[in-house]
This record gives sequence, structure tokens and C-alpha cells, in this order.
Amino acid sequence: MVEEVKFPRCQKCDKGMLLPLSDYGRDGASIRYKAWVCSNPECGFNIRIDNGEITFGRTIGQSYK
Ligand SMILES: [Zn+2]
Repeated sequence: MVEEVKFPRCQKCDKGMLLPLSDYGRDGASIRYKAWVCSNPECGFNIRIDNGEITFGRTIGQSYK
């Protein structure tokens, strides 16, 4: 049985899903859903949440050609 998991649809490309990424703080406490990344590699939309501030569209490990 596979539990159905619903992720929000990407608002930019309307094709991919936004996948939550978790991180771990310096004290080892988990930070859930710190960033969301579109599952469509052609889109690359992402949202980061840092210290209560939301950053849109900053590419993660990508370069434009
Ligand atoms: Zn997208």
C-alpha cells in the first residue's frame, strides 16, 4: 500500500509538484519544510524559508546557459 501524498502544485510551470526539503539546525533540531523545490527540472522554481523570511526563485546548484 502506498500512502497517497499530495504536494502543492507548482504555481510557475503548473506541471511539477513542490517537494518539501528539510534541514537540520546546528543544534541538531530538524527544520521541517525549510525549502520547497519544483519537481520539474525545466522549471527549477524554489522557495526557501530562512528565519521567517521567504526567498523565491534562488537557484540551487544550477546555472543558466
Ligand atoms: Zn515548476
